[in-house]
Amino acid sequence: MIKKLRWTKAIALVLALGLGLSVSAQENYKHISKEDSVKVFPGGEQYKVKQFKANFKGKKPKNIIFMIGDGMGIAQVFGGMTANGGKLFLENFKYVGFSRTQSADNYVTDSAAGGTALSSGYKTYNGAIGVDMNKKSQPNIREYAEEKGIATGVISTSAITHATPASFMAHQPQRKMYEEIAGDFLNTNVDVFIGGGYDHFTKRKDGRNLAKELKDKGYKVLRDMKEIAKVKDGKLAGLTAPTHNPRYEERGDMLPVATQTALNILDNDKDGFFLMVEGSQIDWGGHQNDTHFVVNEMLDFDRAIGVALEFAAKNKETLIVVTADHETGGMAVLGGKYKSGMVKGGYATGHHSGVPVPVFAFGPGAEEFMGFMENIDIPKKLKAMMKR
Ligand code: MG
Ligand code: ZN
Repeated sequence: MIKKLRWTKAIALVLALGLGLSVSAQENYKHISKEDSVKVFPGGEQYKVKQFKANFKGKKPKNIIFMIGDGMGIAQVFGGMTANGGKLFLENFKYVGFSRTQSADNYVTDSAAGGTALSSGYKTYNGAIGVDMNKKSQPNIREYAEEKGIATGVISTSAITHATPASFMAHQPQRKMYEEIAGDFLNTNVDVFIGGGYDHFTKRKDGRNLAKELKDKGYKVLRDMKEIAKVKDGKLAGLTAPTHNPRYEERGDMLPVATQTALNILDNDKDGFFLMVEGSQIDWGGHQNDTHFVVNEMLDFDRAIGVALEFAAKNKETLIVVTADHETGGMAVLGGKYKSGMVKGGYATGHHSGVPVPVFAFGPGAEEFMGFMENIDIPKKLKAMMKR
């Protein structure tokens, strides 16, 4: 019996070795088929990644920057890392964990339940925005910060009314209720928000013009990123697209610039701030099984992380937590070259998957985010740190 087992093991080993050899022998991407063309990112421009000193003041943060890569699993991170020559700003994060993303009614969460878990600390049903299983509104961490007199901001590359940012701003039973979600923005005292979704504020069935209402409340309502980037104080509503912002190739550096703009404004508050930044479209690349899309969105998000790190390293009282609401595409990195930045992606699904997503933390309190945790643990930990 023992002998037999050993033989099977030996045969398996030989087979595995043989398979490995044949795979590397086939490593030739000169003849990319049409089917493969979206799955292979050929490599593009690479950017320099800086190392930041992790040298902080105190045990609890004064400021929190919560960054969510929608659909960002470890393959998306590593695909981006490969494309950028093996380097990402994310490498500055020494405290790393895993978040389990299951929603209350589904092993595979959607971005609404995922966003609500990360914003409120409640597991809820897929589709829910800031409400629990009984459709009861539950306070989110941004609101908690607001109550404490801390400045707050929300940024995304999708419409600002889309599931993830909406989870930090609104309470509605269904994610598709964009106009109702936009209406909820007027019930907050948020200092800065930048994203798409202008139409949800202005072309409404109820005839309300929320852009005007925001102005009356004291917000600068701007649609052009160049104008938005000039704002250094006051309240800002940046609505950069009618619905969603276009993908990176067209949108350019909107996300890193929006992150810098929000930091410029929020840093005026002596009491500290809470800022949520979403790289929304990593998820869309995953849904389309399009490695080019995934990689470019991942790198854009990483550059926004670089902006946050630059601030946090100088400020010394800022905690950055980077995670995802779920993984999208069941993505695998099947091949790559650091030098050219070529990445070959493989995909198990056109939907989300159930695997845990990474959690990265930098700053005072970062050590709280190690090991396995539930998605709802993240806002609970952040909230506990905000108590002061
Ligand atoms: Mg999202
Ligand atoms: Zn999705």
